[in-house]
Amino acid sequence: MPQFAIDLYSDTLTKPTPAMREAIARAEVGDEQKREDPTVNRLQDMTAELTGHEAAIFLPTGTMCNLIAHAVHCRPGDEIIIEQNSHPVHFEGGGPAVHSRVAIRGLPTERGIFNAAQVEAAIRPPDPHFPRSRLVCIENTHNMGGGTVWPMSALHEVATIARKHGLKLHLDGARLMNAVVACGVPAKEICAHFDSVWIDLTKGLGCPVGAVLAGPRAFIEEARRFKHLFGGAMRQAGIIAAAGVYALQHHVERLAVDHANAKRLAGGLAEIPKIRCDAARVETNIVMFDIADTGLSKPDFLKRLESHGVRMSGGWGPTIVRAVTHLDIPAEGIDRALAAVRAVVGAR
Ligand SMILES: *Cc1c(COP(=O)(O)O)cnc(C)c1O
Repeated sequence: MPQFAIDLYSDTLTKPTPAMREAIARAEVGDEQKREDPTVNRLQDMTAELTGHEAAIFLPTGTMCNLIAHAVHCRPGDEIIIEQNSHPVHFEGGGPAVHSRVAIRGLPTERGIFNAAQVEAAIRPPDPHFPRSRLVCIENTHNMGGGTVWPMSALHEVATIARKHGLKLHLDGARLMNAVVACGVPAKEICAHFDSVWIDLTKGLGCPVGAVLAGPRAFIEEARRFKHLFGGAMRQAGIIAAAGVYALQHHVERLAVDHANAKRLAGGLAEIPKIRCDAARVETNIVMFDIADTGLSKPDFLKRLESHGVRMSGGWGPTIVRAVTHLDIPAEGIDRALAAVRAVVGAR
């Protein structure tokens, strides 16, 4: 396995800190299938409180949170309205079609934020020819959009239209806490618009495993059925839930550090000749930039960067590169990354 001195590939790469490992080692555990794991129960209660929802359920992955939400809210043949570059569209192995047998209506946007008019235009009239519009899904922050935070006004408008037409709303909050820290709006206020919400523990929050899905009690009880059905029920899961409890206490406010690092990275990239980066667009921990003018292909650019000890990943589009800041990237890492990009494009 190659190790990179500065790994900006994704915020999923974080390793548990020594303090998090201590919390894991001390965790009280029980059988979580029997609802007897006190640490899992605590994490679920904390997430319900954080999101302002009645109940929550601990799951192995964020992908399973999305799948279970689709399965509970929809019946086979229903249609989900979602931004076209969202996670379930590209990165869940066709899961919505396989597990919930739903159709997907992808809305085009520039940076992940669609509007009420787009939703209204996508809603199907009641006619047996059409799939039945059932659920609107929102990703906040939007990953492939570049870590974009949904403005509260846009959320409100979309939610109002969805409600007017009797649709449910689901929030993919893989990076919800990044949005919360960036816009200063409490998670509860954002989550109040939704019938179901989830947070990922393995992105910016820095845990090794897990995600938590929240919603009304009846929704969560139904979600529990699907957790068993999908093979996601665990046993002494307090071992991993303890990391989540620790992260909610200690790793939320520090996301501001990742955001500041991302902004500085973007500002530095914008000054490098042949690199196009709009630093004003960086709102959270994801930086997208365009290497079209460098004359290098994306694989070549990324490979050369790696030879300088810096790893990044590809964004959407043939010339877009993505860098993600996280817990394991110190401020000096940004200087090192900028120096590597300068070297790769032959700038001084
Ligand atoms: C990572 C991610 C997921 C899936 O979460 P996993 O825990 O990796 O299964 C879903 N949505 C978004 C926006 C993500 O970034």
